[in-house]
This record gives sequence, structure tokens and C-alpha cells, in this order.
Amino acid sequence: MSRAIVFSEVPQLVAELVTTAARVADEVHVVALGQPSAASLDGVASVALLTADAARPESFVAAIAARVAAIDADVVLVGATVTGWEVAARVATVLGVGLVSEATALRRVPGAGWQAERVVYAGGAVQTESWSGLAVVTVTAGFAPAARDVGGAAPVQVVPVEVDARVRVVSRSVRPHEGVDLAHATRVVCVGMGLGSVDDLAIARGLAEALDAEVACTRPVAEDREWLPTERYIGISGVSVRPDLYLGLGVSGQVQHTVGIREAAVVVGINTDPNAPLFGVCDYAVVGDLHEIAPMLTEAIRAVRSGGAVESAAS
Ligand SMILES: Cc1cc2nc3c(=O)[nH]c(=O)nc-3n(C[C@H](O)[C@H](O)[C@H](O)COP(=O)(O)OP(=O)(O)OC[C@H]3O[C@@H](n4cnc5c(N)ncnc54)[C@H](O)[C@@H]3O)c2cc1C
Repeated sequence: MSRAIVFSEVPQLVAELVTTAARVADEVHVVALGQPSAASLDGVASVALLTADAARPESFVAAIAARVAAIDADVVLVGATVTGWEVAARVATVLGVGLVSEATALRRVPGAGWQAERVVYAGGAVQTESWSGLAVVTVTAGFAPAARDVGGAAPVQVVPVEVDARVRVVSRSVRPHEGVDLAHATRVVCVGMGLGSVDDLAIARGLAEALDAEVACTRPVAEDREWLPTERYIGISGVSVRPDLYLGLGVSGQVQHTVGIREAAVVVGINTDPNAPLFGVCDYAVVGDLHEIAPMLTEAIRAVRSGGAVESAAS
């Protein structure tokens, strides 16, 4: 009999973690902050709802660790969020066990323990980690909750958590954002430092409009130049996208960026440098100046979409 305990402060992640845990453990126990959906709790053995503030992980890790001990869990799965990372590290420390971070797959190896896969070297390799005994594992989002039909929901036990009054939350502010959903965009026009100036964003915007695409960028465009908001940059420290079409304008294609476009169906690059690394992952490579080629492409796409001839637009 193996037992998994899952924790997340995000109800959707609880559902994903329960699905993952149910694949590898005989018994699944849930610890949550917000009330998870009833469907996600189908078939779980127990649910503990902590009356705690997600912004104060130090106040509730002891409750999670106590739960792990009471259940005699074999593995602890934590949703990989900013709060989750802190919770996982603190719980592992309290329990004196190892921590496996950012698992993208989890397996139980009968008689030998556990195995997890995690992406390393900026997406350049997949590492397999093996261990036996109890460990805490942070699990990346994306394990879609599967429909499970395994009986009714477990009773929910509310666990009050005492907060250490020496630490107070003095203010909270919402980080402003545009609400752009790059991760689900079907087409992306991505600008890199080859753009040259903020005014030239108009070129990318024109092309994006013609293609019904979202405008994205590389990290230096957002963080160094601040030409676009940080929520629009793609890569290992930004957003991962999976569009039908990714079109890079003046993007060199360093691995920290291209790891975020691994799932793109078709990759097109426009770059003056024939040796740009982006061309190594491109389906279509255009060697040339984006300031000349992108407007021509925009006109050609507009012409095609309005039923005109491509030749007349490109000439
Ligand atoms: C820890 C770490 C994390 C990072 N995370 C990220 C991340 O998440 N996302 C990210 O994007 N980067 C990230 N980076 C930065 C990354 O390594 C690269 O520096 C960055 O992606 C390069 O951005 P770029 O392609 O816009 O600029 P550059 O590398 O400067 O490339 C500009 C390109 O434009 C071309 N060019 C110039 N003029 C023209 C023109 N007129 N027409 C066409 N092409 C032209 C050039 O030939 C060149 O290839 C990270 C770096 C580190 C160290």
C-alpha cells in the first residue's frame, strides 16, 4: 500500500495533483487552502482544509508535515507555484527528507522506490531522478485532471492554523498586467533585439494584426529595453508557448528563449545573420533585414487574406 499526499493553494492544481497521485499511489490524501472542486476529490482518502493564508507558508508547513506523518505518506506532491516552492522546501526541511523539484513525470518503481523526470539545462535535456523512502516533489502544472469515477468524495476536515503574530502582512498589491494569454495563442509574432527601436514595434504589430497573432518578445526586449511588458516574453524565465505558428523577427534564438517554443508547430525566423541559432530550430528561415521583409510579408498576407494576388503585394 503506497500513500501520496498532495498540497496546493490553487484548486485547479489540486485537481491535477490528485490525478497524478492516483496514477502512482494506492491512496491519495489532499491538503488544500481553498476548497477544491468536488469532482477533483472523487476517490481521495482524506481532505484537510487549512484555514491559512497562502502568503504565510511558514504558518502552515507544520500542519502539512504533521499530516504527512499521521498518514505515513510515501510521497508528498506539491504544485509548483511561488507559494508551492516555498512550502515544499520548508516541508522537506521539517521532515528531514529530500526534495525533487519541477517534476514533469512521476513513476513508482515496484520494489525500488520512485522516479521523476525533470527538464534541465534550459530545456536541453531531461533528467531522471530515482529515490527510495519519503520525498517531497514539486510538480509542474499541466497534468490535466482526468475524469475519474472512483466513488464519492472524502469528508473534508477543517484544520485551523495559528499565525505567528510577529510577522504581519502590511499590504498587498496586484501586479498590473494586460491579461494576454500567450500560452494559448494560436499564432505568435515574436520580436527580438534586432528590432532596433521601440518605434519599430509597429512593424511587428502590423504583421501580427494581418496574421491574427499575439505579439511576444525576447527577455531583453521586455526586461532591458522595457518595450513590451514582461508577461509577453517567451523562454525559460518567461512564458512557454505552443502556437501553430511562431514567427521570430530579429531573434537570435538562444536556448533560454527557444526552450519556450519547443511545442510550436511551425517556426519561422527572419534574421540578418545566416548563422543565427534560431535557424537551427526553424522550419522556414529568411536571411534578411526584418525592416524590409516583415512589411512585405504583412502586405502579402493581407493580399492573400483579402483574396488578392501575392505577387502584386511583394513587387
Ligand atoms: C538565466 C537566464 C535566463 C534567461 N531567460 C530568458 C528567457 O526566458 N527568454 C529570453 O528570450 N531570453 C532569456 N535569456 C536571455 C538569452 O540568453 C538571450 O540573451 C536573449 O534571448 C537574446 O535576445 P534577442 O534574440 O532578442 O537578442 P540578441 O541575442 O541580441 O539577438 C538579436 C538578433 O537580431 C538579429 N538582427 C539584428 N538586426 C536585424 C535586422 N535588421 N533584421 C533581422 N535581424 C536582425 C541579429 O543577427 C541577432 O541574431 C536568459 C538568459 C539567462 C542568463
